[in-house]
Amino acid sequence: MKKRFLTAAAAALCAVSLAACGGSSTATTAAETQTSEAADTTAAEADAAEEETAAEAEETEEGGTLIMATNAEFPPYEYHDSSQTGPDGSDIVGIDAEIAGAIAEKLGKDLVIEDIAFDSLIPELQSGKADFVAAGMTVTEDRLVNVDFSDTYATAVQSIIVTSDSEIAGPDDLAGKKIGVQQGTTGDLYATDDFGDENIDRYPKGVDAVQALVQGKVDAVIIDNEPAKVFVGDNEGLKLLDTAYAEEEYAIAVKKGNTELLEQINTVIQELKDSGEMDSIIGKYITAE
Ligand code: GLN
Repeated sequence: MKKRFLTAAAAALCAVSLAACGGSSTATTAAETQTSEAADTTAAEADAAEEETAAEAEETEEGGTLIMATNAEFPPYEYHDSSQTGPDGSDIVGIDAEIAGAIAEKLGKDLVIEDIAFDSLIPELQSGKADFVAAGMTVTEDRLVNVDFSDTYATAVQSIIVTSDSEIAGPDDLAGKKIGVQQGTTGDLYATDDFGDENIDRYPKGVDAVQALVQGKVDAVIIDNEPAKVFVGDNEGLKLLDTAYAEEEYAIAVKKGNTELLEQINTVIQELKDSGEMDSIIGKYITAE
């Protein structure tokens, strides 16, 4: 099996060096400026500043909102289930939704979950429309150019789904075959690299790629193992190959340089891991084999 993910250690190193280079020096400059300005502040200005601080404190007390962007087509990490109520009061549930709920609760904010196309998630973060992305998103070097990732919270593999009667038995048999993927996912990126753009059919949702397989439009689907299990369970005549295609790790993404939120998210992830809560969230959605 190929190991294409960036290790947690490498990602952590990156985050540390980033904080060391950019974040802290800017913060010092801002603080210094504030100190020197404070010396010349008139009484009126001091009053205004005090009011501002009070307003800010009130805002924190009241909480405000925390916007999570995701693509809720990825069971068991995020999906719509009309029989349940998710942490933002909508019908979006799953492992990421619950982790996000814990983060919002910890920060005293109301969670809002935005459900958008997978390949719009990073642009949504960059434009500042969302605070973080929790979407079973794999840490990759390319994505690290555009966003910062939290500590990882799950390992995953890219799996291969074929029809029960297929002769495809592993990644090597995929050469020259039509492969269905969800647009913009690592399954898409890796398969395009390995088997050529002309052999890849891209779909907006993983479930659409699986439907194309059922209808004989593609020979195989490459997708993350947990949704793969759900989709194979929901459709007759499909099987999941034992040999996986690639190994990877999931993390939460924030806008590049948003160290404050990143640290808060990492603290919550660590707390969830230490308290065993992370295991129970995962155990609620994934039955151990
Ligand atoms: N883990 C895959 C990726 O990050 C797919 C995630 C998804 O479809 N939500 O590209």
